[in-house]
Amino acid sequence: MSTRAAASAAASSSQQFSDILLGGLAVDGGLFLPASYPQVTGAELDAWRQLSYADLAYEILKKFATDIPDADLRALTAKTYTKEVYKNARQGEKASQITPLRVLEEGANGTKLVLQALSNGPTLAFKDMAMQLLGNLFEYALAKQNAQLNIFGATSGDTGSAAEYAMRGKKGIRVFMLSPHKKMSAFQTAQMFSLQDPNIFNIAIEGVFDDAQDMVKAVSNDLPFKAQQKIGTVNSINWARVVAQVVYYFRGYLSATTSNDQKVSFTVPSGNFGNICAGHIARMMGLPIAKLVAATNENDVLDEFFRTGVYRVRKSAETYHTSSPSMDISKASNFERFIYDLVGRDGDRTRALFQKVETHGGFDLSGKPGADGDEFKQVAKYGFKSGKSTHEDRLNTIRDVADDYGIVIDTHTADGIKVARENLEPGVTMIVLETALAAKFNETILDALGEDAERPEGFENIEDLPQKFVVMPPDVEKMKAYIAANTGL
Ligand SMILES: *Cc1c(COP(=O)(O)O)cnc(C)c1O
Repeated sequence: MSTRAAASAAASSSQQFSDILLGGLAVDGGLFLPASYPQVTGAELDAWRQLSYADLAYEILKKFATDIPDADLRALTAKTYTKEVYKNARQGEKASQITPLRVLEEGANGTKLVLQALSNGPTLAFKDMAMQLLGNLFEYALAKQNAQLNIFGATSGDTGSAAEYAMRGKKGIRVFMLSPHKKMSAFQTAQMFSLQDPNIFNIAIEGVFDDAQDMVKAVSNDLPFKAQQKIGTVNSINWARVVAQVVYYFRGYLSATTSNDQKVSFTVPSGNFGNICAGHIARMMGLPIAKLVAATNENDVLDEFFRTGVYRVRKSAETYHTSSPSMDISKASNFERFIYDLVGRDGDRTRALFQKVETHGGFDLSGKPGADGDEFKQVAKYGFKSGKSTHEDRLNTIRDVADDYGIVIDTHTADGIKVARENLEPGVTMIVLETALAAKFNETILDALGEDAERPEGFENIEDLPQKFVVMPPDVEKMKAYIAANTGL
């Protein structure tokens, strides 16, 4: 159901997992969530501790995707979560564990800091964890309906490449991905443009990211064209992506513990609130998570909310370009899912609050005079904490971690470690989610360490590979003509 469903409509607006898989927003503009969170028992957790990642993913997805036959779902997770797909594990990590843990430090006072690697997939960032499954789910769902889908989006880096690597070679799917011409790093450009698959279309727009994003909006607003060309998206509000991310919170907890009375906290480098939203859902399902700590960079919309109860989105001019660029967001697109729970699953309240975001740039749940509500006092009940990390903090953390533990972490993970250290508690294991490998953000690594980040095998000469892309002006009609010519629809 939708986070904006009127109470009277809630019961009748239920939809199946497969129906919302290929859709985006609910018709009322809200985000999809289940009518209630499926619960896990202690016995299930015990049994799951020994499972492979793929089998664990099957058990968890089964609780949400109730309309996909068991055997099909098992085949889909088995095909997705393999050591061949998530092969970029560091030395000392087992690729077969898919999201291996590495203990960084155990304090004398009983604190423990652990890294969970989520970036061993094809594009070296955590978005592969969900996107690879999405590619297989899409192909499966489309084949059943004998349908096709043309994914159309804009990227400044990680999401676009994760989508292309998930959809390449998939039957019934094409990807049209816009990016700002000559504005991505050489590594990111090479990753995307070196794909030669006939169903992948890289379009470099003469302009900045916002120009590319505006073109996506303009084309998507032409509803007849969108329907005719079977256009869809894979952005971070996609419900199946969020569900797929729930799995690694279970894997992290189960791998870090030996019994269910042990508590674990997670620190999550956050931007659009998609990753940590999955942690919230895992906790609501009954996973014994103590704290969920949102780590932001200088773009601290989320940190501000979790400190004060005020959600104040930023304008473009107030959104900084930082050295952890995948967290440079001014408006957290999945935040509405958490607020819906926070206000007692009241769709009318949620709708009013997020309409106020559009009209007044935010809302205030601090409970102070004139505020929109006082639910901020409930936030602690959901385990949320937060912190912020700056460019200077990132450089220092990358240096510290290299010196102390001999591994090189990326800039986003550095934000996570910095904030995690401020939130360690005796007797509670703190897991930091590693959201990218350092090779993707080499410029900052070079600044911090004076040497290049190591590249996983196969990425050594990626910039030298032949590239396939077209350059286009930001012209909506030309874009439509290009799409139609290539879909033949
Ligand atoms: C996307 C991304 C994030 C932010 O994740 P959200 O789900 O948007 O909060 C953090 N780090 C990296 C490397 C990313 O690619």
